[in-house]
Amino acid sequence: MKACIRCKYLTKEDKCPLCGSETSENWRGFLIILDPINSEIARKIKVDCKGKYALSVK
Ligand SMILES: [Zn+2]
Repeated sequence: MKACIRCKYLTKEDKCPLCGSETSENWRGFLIILDPINSEIARKIKVDCKGKYALSVK
């Protein structure tokens, strides 16, 4: 899996399907957002789409 350098979305693609930014293999930790509208964590990391996200991407 790779993580988008901009929105941190985890994907197998070389480009993020959400924002079109490049993805990186250099990421740590992940969280699963199931309900972005009602999730405090989702708001904190500015996520508005459900899916898996990396905690930190370099
Ligand atoms: Zn992205």
